[in-house]
Amino acid sequence: MAANKNLLILPGDGIGPEVMRQVRRVVDWMDKRRAVRFDVQEDLVGGAAIDAHGVPIADQTMDKAMNADAVLLGAVGGPKWDNLEFAKKPERGLLRLRKEMQLFANLRPAICFPALADASTLKRELVEGLDIMIVRELTGGVYFGEPRGITELPDGQRRGVNTQVYTTNEIRRVARVAFELARKRQKRVTSCEKANVMESGVLWREEVQKLHDEEYRDVELQHMYADNAAMQLVRAPKQFDVIVTDNLFGDILSDEAAMLTGSLGMLPSASLGDIDETGRRKALYEPVHGSAPDIAGRNLANPIATLLSFAMSLRYSFDMGEEADLIEKAVQQVLDTGIRTADIMQKGAAKVSTTTMGDSILMALDRMSA
Ligand code: NAD
Repeated sequence: MAANKNLLILPGDGIGPEVMRQVRRVVDWMDKRRAVRFDVQEDLVGGAAIDAHGVPIADQTMDKAMNADAVLLGAVGGPKWDNLEFAKKPERGLLRLRKEMQLFANLRPAICFPALADASTLKRELVEGLDIMIVRELTGGVYFGEPRGITELPDGQRRGVNTQVYTTNEIRRVARVAFELARKRQKRVTSCEKANVMESGVLWREEVQKLHDEEYRDVELQHMYADNAAMQLVRAPKQFDVIVTDNLFGDILSDEAAMLTGSLGMLPSASLGDIDETGRRKALYEPVHGSAPDIAGRNLANPIATLLSFAMSLRYSFDMGEEADLIEKAVQQVLDTGIRTADIMQKGAAKVSTTTMGDSILMALDRMSA
């Protein structure tokens, strides 16, 4: 079958290489059992790149990322590099990728597998079967707006300033991502801002509504103040399908939604850029968790967040929804049989290593394709 599906894998630091090894096994499985071949390149990022090249991501690695169909990243950072100055820290590698690839839309699904519903702090009936997608604007808003800074006032006080700025185009392009996703889901978008107290929120609401009326009338659009959305997420999270919001509110709402589902080891993410003239969209996929230095190198890490990130790349970069479904179903089956890594361990379940979790998921994939 056709090749040229360019995947750049950046395992990074800590548990990154351990969980990524399980992804490589699934990539090989796709090749053998589904005749889907990826051109996989692997390279360094974060502390590993600092050790090898003196920088958190080398220029040649950046070039590979810019030319890949999808980049899959493990995690960066660890105590070894904690004392470096800010500009040289492992995290700068990740920030450079996000910035130069212009990844403006951050997708954070919050899915609650029934087998893990009891790990949530909410009641089982509120979260069982939960499947929401939060789309956060990632390159604009108050984290980047000018003017910013801390100044001294004549009376000796200090004044801290950040500026919330959004333009029409910034709002429309992220809203478009949300509407397109909703079309493949339950066709419902909730757009969140604070239009009651912020002009940038008024603009956000107006532009999202305009885009909806022009191009996405088949999708149901609801506007909600971000503080109400925060409440609704813990009151009745299943009312949502796709949530789209700005950088600041998205930061908070996506972490809140993540906690509905239980464990950090289960959460994937995607960050998308614009579609270029060849029809390709730059994209970076990564688990939400970090490099977990406390368990690194011990074969204890949960590889599911990274495997589900790979599944997202199949769905959103390679148009392979069927294969993405297969991976998600395999994960669900393995969880249903009571197999757990330590982070999601429950009474009566079988505690397994990173490698054995990988084995179990491959066996489930085999069973489904038999
Ligand atoms: P962390 O996500 O690495 O770990 C938090 C806790 O969750 C730890 O107890 C860890 O053992 C556990 N955990 C995380 N992922 C797990 C998995 N897959 N399986 C089982 N348990 C898992 O966050 P932290 O401890 O705050 O940060 C550790 C390092 O990671 C720091 O250097 C930090 O800067 C970096 N970090 C990187 C990223 C990233 O690469 N995107 C994100 C967050 C933190």
